[in-house]
Amino acid sequence: MSEAALATKGKQSEHLMKRLSDSQRRSWRWLSFFTALATTLMPLVSQAENARLAVIIDDLGYHQRGCRDVLALPGPLNLAFLPHTPFAAQYAEKAHQSGHTIMLHLPMSNHSGARLGPGGVNGRMSHDVLAQTMRDGLVSIPHVQGFNNHMGSRLTENRPAMDTLMTVAAEQGLFFIDSRTTVKTTAQQAAREANIPNLRRHVFLDNDTRTEALARQFKQAVRLARKKGLAVLIGHPYPETLAFLHQQLPNLDSDIELIRLDDELLVAAPPVPSAPDPLPEPVVAEIQEPAVTEWCPWCTPDHDRDDQQRSGSVFQPDHAVLLWPWESVVSGSYLY
Ligand SMILES: [Zn+2]
Repeated sequence: MSEAALATKGKQSEHLMKRLSDSQRRSWRWLSFFTALATTLMPLVSQAENARLAVIIDDLGYHQRGCRDVLALPGPLNLAFLPHTPFAAQYAEKAHQSGHTIMLHLPMSNHSGARLGPGGVNGRMSHDVLAQTMRDGLVSIPHVQGFNNHMGSRLTENRPAMDTLMTVAAEQGLFFIDSRTTVKTTAQQAAREANIPNLRRHVFLDNDTRTEALARQFKQAVRLARKKGLAVLIGHPYPETLAFLHQQLPNLDSDIELIRLDDELLVAAPPVPSAPDPLPEPVVAEIQEPAVTEWCPWCTPDHDRDDQQRSGSVFQPDHAVLLWPWESVVSGSYLY
């Protein structure tokens, strides 16, 4: 609109106001006020209605193809790398540059006796060894901002061990996500009491990698995100999972927002462990968990058998290095 037109319009409004009675003028001003207020608040209201979905992909680092395919997904995502694995450092760097959040996926002892792989922690370790093992794992992966547990059904029940890990998280300014591989986990409580920003896993995406099962789990995560405002979904770099996410993530409903967990949890300055004021109560899901899932796609014999069936390959006792059907095998001695 030109200056002349604006001036004309201004004069018209002035003229109109002069013709109105006092009460009409008051009504007119109130109407203008509420219109301006509504215009200002509308974006805030619609923002508050957004449902936040944090997608974590665990178990990255052993397989190049898995790392590469994860980076082809739309994000932002939260990528959890196993420490001291062949491709963790290289792909954590690339993932960081692509705008994803990097996490340490710390292997923890479990009731099923599955091997932990390099950088694993267990309850027989002293406080110092436990803490140093975690620190070494953190050094092996660049740009780490948080951590979650790989397996851990045994260790997350061990409160003193969790307290030790949280002291390292505090000194490094990390957030923590409890993967919840046991209902008796003490990990989130330990994080809370150490003032570590924390959340829990709400839904595992791919315990069953059939398309209908993936769709069901994904739908549950979306439903929870809408209900609670935030849901944490954990998946793994299986070909089926990545193909599913490749299809789903670009087509999310407009009210679903993918989030980085560091944006969610580390917006304020890193907390001081001894700070007297507790952090806001974290989101706690109200879902019932029918069964505990100990999740280690590389370490459990069951998964090895699944892999064997998929690929038709011979079962490898050194199962932690069993790769996707189309990938070459990494030397076992490199890993253990
Ligand atoms: Zn894991």
